[in-house]
Amino acid sequence: MNNRVVDLHTHSTASDGSLTPTELVRAAVNGGLCGLALTDHDSGGGLIEAQVAADKAGLRFVPGIEISAEAPAPATMHLLGYYIDPHSPALLKMSQILIDGRNNRNPRIIAKLNELGCKITMDQVLEIAHRGDAAGNRTVVVGRPHIAQALLESHCVASLKQAFDVYLGMGGAAYFDKERLTPRQAIDCIHDAGGLAVLAHPVQLRAQNHAHLQHSIESLVDLGLDGIEVWHSDHRPQDASFLLQIATKHQLVVTGGSDFHGTRKPDINIGIGRSNVRVPEHILDELHAAWKNKFQAKPAGTAVN
Ligand code: AMP
Ligand code: ZN
Ligand code: FE
Ligand code: FE
Repeated sequence: MNNRVVDLHTHSTASDGSLTPTELVRAAVNGGLCGLALTDHDSGGGLIEAQVAADKAGLRFVPGIEISAEAPAPATMHLLGYYIDPHSPALLKMSQILIDGRNNRNPRIIAKLNELGCKITMDQVLEIAHRGDAAGNRTVVVGRPHIAQALLESHCVASLKQAFDVYLGMGGAAYFDKERLTPRQAIDCIHDAGGLAVLAHPVQLRAQNHAHLQHSIESLVDLGLDGIEVWHSDHRPQDASFLLQIATKHQLVVTGGSDFHGTRKPDINIGIGRSNVRVPEHILDELHAAWKNKFQAKPAGTAVN
């Protein structure tokens, strides 16, 4: 048993992280990690660059994604896809649908903010979102953290947290939902792209109690869910213990990561999270083995499901 550590949940400038994929790989190496998954929101646009940088640095790399799925308020449901093929047509199609959904929503948020007296513009938000893409060759998923940054830079709020608490978070004065996939569509899409589907930060489902959480996870297992994220910056140790029990019961793969976003979530450090996320390397070994078992070990003619 070694004490090497991985981080299987991170964001880059291809979505709402502040580091480019190359800078993210450097941060992972500098942080002493031996493995990294890049899981940008709704896009695999940073994966090729990250893979190249990781290969050069000798860092184990998992191409991933984090997809938003429909869930009744106040729940947030995100599905992580691991070992997806960045060129998969199913993935590119899905990604475009979700990016269109954001592009419909974002102007509504900005119009509402303007109405409320916060004079920020779409151009300002786009400039912030593209800061990590000087060459302009990356698809950038524009999200609420970029809008929060624009509010901060325009002195409309004193912190990113305040931007979410007052305006952008669920129930905030300028909150609008965006188009999402159903959980079934999200899981199917991840499978079509050759990846394993893992429920991100299950506590964000905001289940009333453990029985409800278990029921929600089991509904996703019925749809083909492969695993659950056990260790995450939002999870307390007792959450992780309970999630481990469910994973064992249903033979689910378990993963963990910080949800690092660079300066957009300044309290989260890569590989460490908000202090309690340290995912040992064997979790990455087991994730990889589960993926190989699902997608590469079947005799010819056998369906992958
Ligand atoms: P979007 O996908 O554009 O709706 O934005 C999602 C991003 O906003 C994710 O990185 C979330 O973690 C972040 N986010 C959502 N709600 C909050 C909140 N209340 N405080 C801080 N970040 C949040
Ligand atoms: Zn994010
Ligand atoms: Fe998430
Ligand atoms: Fe995330």
